[in-house]
Amino acid sequence: MRNPASVFDVARRTKGFMPMVEGLALFEFARHARGTTWLEVGAWCGKSTLYLGAAATRAGATLFSLDHHHGSEELQEGWPHFDPTLVDPADGRLNTLPSWQRTVADAGLEETVIGLVGRSEVIAPHFATPLNLLFLDGGHGDVVAWRDFRDWAPKVVVGGLVLLHDVFANPEDGGRPPYEIYCHALDSGDFVARGAVGSLHALERRR
Ligand code: SAH
Ligand code: MG
Repeated sequence: MRNPASVFDVARRTKGFMPMVEGLALFEFARHARGTTWLEVGAWCGKSTLYLGAAATRAGATLFSLDHHHGSEELQEGWPHFDPTLVDPADGRLNTLPSWQRTVADAGLEETVIGLVGRSEVIAPHFATPLNLLFLDGGHGDVVAWRDFRDWAPKVVVGGLVLLHDVFANPEDGGRPPYEIYCHALDSGDFVARGAVGSLHALERRR
């Protein structure tokens, strides 16, 4: 089993968009998950992967880490978070897969974390195993974010956790879809809130 502190050290130097306080909260929420099939949508260079992966090794769980690794619309050239060092000169596209692989290897999590490389909407219909934990942090545009929720949340078992990133109640802090999805999940009565740290919100399926 990997020592979480050494995994968090790797996380500290990994590129990404999750402040450490939210990463540690991700680890803590995940520690309360029961069951051994976990999945994240949106891995980028593997920061969230490590916080979830550290909890997964302790739980004896397997974490499926899904991304096509070419970046969301809001990460492309011309947008504030564009990172030219992640462009593959062979084809001019973003490619975070090599960084993600290095991150997971450096943290010693290759036995715990399995990469699913492809589009979420293509993989989802083929993934039949019930999920005990789902972390949603893929594309945040209206169509993509809602599709991810509708494709993946139904696979979460009763008592399982859905963790949503970038949920901002105040429109000045960030885009709407994750917050609207969070409100919808609670209004549906299918989920109860299990706490929040920063923009990370935890839900538990109750039916
Ligand atoms: N959780 C990461 C950040 C993820 S950023 C961290 O902690 O740093 C969002 C990611 O979602 C990007 O890497 C992008 O490639 C991925 N993504 C966006 N739309 C996707 C889709 N339809 N299928 C698979 N991955 C997608
Ligand atoms: Mg995010």
